[in-house]
Amino acid sequence: METLEGINASAGIGIGHVLVVEEPTLEYESRTVSDTEAEKQRFHAAIDGYVAYTQAQADQMAEQVGPKEAEILTGHIVMIADPYMQGEMEKLIDGGTCAEDALSQICDNFAAMFEATGDELTMQRATDIRDVKGGVLAELLNKRPVDISLVPQGTVLVTHDLTPSMTASIRPGTVVGIVTETGGMTSHSAILARAMEIPAVLSVENACKALADGVQVVVDGGRGTVTVEPDPDVLSAAQKESDRLAARQEELKRFVGCRTVTADGTRVELFANIGKPEDATQAMERDAEGVGLFRTEFLFMDSTSMPSEDEQFEAYKKAALICKGKPIIIRTLDIGGDKDIPYMGFEHEDNPFMGFRAVRYCLAREDVYRIQLRALLRASAFGDIRIMVPLVTCVDEMTAVRDLISRYMAEFDNEGVAYNKDIQIGAMIETPAAALMADELAKVCDFFSIGTNDLTGYTMACDRGNDRVRYLYSTYNPAVLRSIRNVITAGNEAGILVGMCGEAAANPLLIPLWVAFGLGEYSVNAASVLATRAAINRWSLDEAKAFAERIMELSTAAAVYEELKKIEEE
Ligand code: PEP
Ligand code: MG
Repeated sequence: METLEGINASAGIGIGHVLVVEEPTLEYESRTVSDTEAEKQRFHAAIDGYVAYTQAQADQMAEQVGPKEAEILTGHIVMIADPYMQGEMEKLIDGGTCAEDALSQICDNFAAMFEATGDELTMQRATDIRDVKGGVLAELLNKRPVDISLVPQGTVLVTHDLTPSMTASIRPGTVVGIVTETGGMTSHSAILARAMEIPAVLSVENACKALADGVQVVVDGGRGTVTVEPDPDVLSAAQKESDRLAARQEELKRFVGCRTVTADGTRVELFANIGKPEDATQAMERDAEGVGLFRTEFLFMDSTSMPSEDEQFEAYKKAALICKGKPIIIRTLDIGGDKDIPYMGFEHEDNPFMGFRAVRYCLAREDVYRIQLRALLRASAFGDIRIMVPLVTCVDEMTAVRDLISRYMAEFDNEGVAYNKDIQIGAMIETPAAALMADELAKVCDFFSIGTNDLTGYTMACDRGNDRVRYLYSTYNPAVLRSIRNVITAGNEAGILVGMCGEAAANPLLIPLWVAFGLGEYSVNAASVLATRAAINRWSLDEAKAFAERIMELSTAAAVYEELKKIEEE
């Protein structure tokens, strides 16, 4: 029995059997072939295999996700079936080139040709053709990727990194644990695992090598451990812990349907974070009082081309309708940094977290932003949609966004299109600049939402995904806590609602501080809604304030953590 350690990214106990999912490396040695007929047969067999596999995936996608998404895959089949392209590949094989090289050369030529057009739609075909090339190469090399949608019940997925597309293929009830080699508490793999309520331990060194297919493991997502081949005692303790957590969930049910109040009756709002319109259903089922953060970049990341105004409108409208009039804060496109979208044409930057991302990108690309803002305004006729701007650093950015929105409102007035004229427009406070300017920003914002994930990173000048500086990445740092307190005070003084949608909003240890500072809205992952309501309910304002006063006198993250922990254990 061995125990591996990593980051406790999604709480819960998962007992199951390992399946290592590695992105296949498609490297091969170039060869000259003499039996060109046999090589052509091998080539065609690979294409047939690719077509059959892709068609099966497309059918499944059509059933589980929708016909439009499935079209992307059937489009790949049409591409590789092109007789001209296949003819060019055959010609190369006839000349003694091996199938892998013939495929790669012709696909690369086509991709370069598409890319050179400069036309966005045609350039997208370059990405498609590279996908096709990868798929057929995988067939030739016999390295077809594992289809996660087909894994059996009780699977613990072990992978280098959990990508959004992998996550999209997980069927509920099949995967009981996730172990990755990279990522931190606030990486998108962690956020996705929590959203799916699957226990996850991230950043386990060499997990893909250390864990073999079929081995039994216990994933403790709360502690951040993976026990390999657990002995009977460990197994039964894990089972007990799992039962205890289930009982706790049962206990929390008494908070269903209750208002979110402190022990002395102060009302706050408790919302949930979502990544896709459909996630709003789970949020409502988990008794969230609204949506405090809809990360729209997933809509863009899950698509191979830019979603049109109508497509975005439908997505936002769908989410708003699910929320049935409850508030839904939709964050405009937050890409760049760690979130790349191939068709958006990002250029390489040495320091992308400090670079051309989020609102900076959107304000420079009005063509992209206009589509999203118009879609949001149209959808605002169907619910209490509020628009939130990410990574704001200065007042000018907010006024620029507001000017654009006013302009699109005027367009709709001329066109007679319905929208909510009083739509609220707010800022995410997730940079030190915004935190320091909170009083001024409050004059141009209808609300704030504190993004503690980024605010922690930018305040501590450390990248949340960088293992070597992770020791600095902690919201318990007094610098971060002071910053948060200033933002809440400034927002409250200006009379606007101040919320928090970073992961710290659901941290029960920190909740007394948020209560004391006067946070008005908490937005947490759906699975944490009831636990957060219970944690807020534990504290009266006076108790929380007295406690916070003590905490805010401390000068290190470790001291803060120790003090908070003591209270929890009392
Ligand atoms: C944050 O930074 O706290 C946040 C909620 O946004 P994201 O994690 O998507 O950057
Ligand atoms: Mg952020």
